Amino acid sequence: MPSFVVQEHHSRRLHWDFRLEVAGTLKSWAVPKGPSLDPHERRFAIRTPDHSLGWAKFEGEIPAGSYGAGEVVLWDEGEYHPLKPQDPEEGLRKGILIFRMSGHRLKGVFALVKLRGVPKKDAWILIKKCDVFARTGWRIPILSDGFQTRLKKAA
Ligand code: MN
Repeated sequence: MPSFVVQEHHSRRLHWDFRLEVAGTLKSWAVPKGPSLDPHERRFAIRTPDHSLGWAKFEGEIPAGSYGAGEVVLWDEGEYHPLKPQDPEEGLRKGILIFRMSGHRLKGVFALVKLRGVPKKDAWILIKKCDVFARTGWRIPILSDGFQTRLKKAA
């Protein structure tokens, strides 16, 4: 089964990078509020450039001055199972991907749906489907206060 990774990223604005292994690369979305286990929550997800599979293990600080400068923390990892369509490349083209996640935090069925008519931005919505892993009112655990935040406190 292909892998997935979610990285908590304390760059200029905190967000979660949601990455699915597809055809030997990590297809990526930046999710400002992070994924949710609450099926009532529709999480905005902006498509970002593909990353290499090796990036899935990255944790640490992206240095100041570099793109995405700030702390990266591995938030979740595991495997995912494409359900519909069964070929995720086809799903990416069509703008809809339904898949089952087997992570430590993210479990059960999710959908990624591309928004139509959003100019310029490649905008998608990440939604938890109703199943035994759905949690109404779930709140995302933030694992780090961020390197930059700590720097500010120290200054
Ligand atoms: Mn990021």
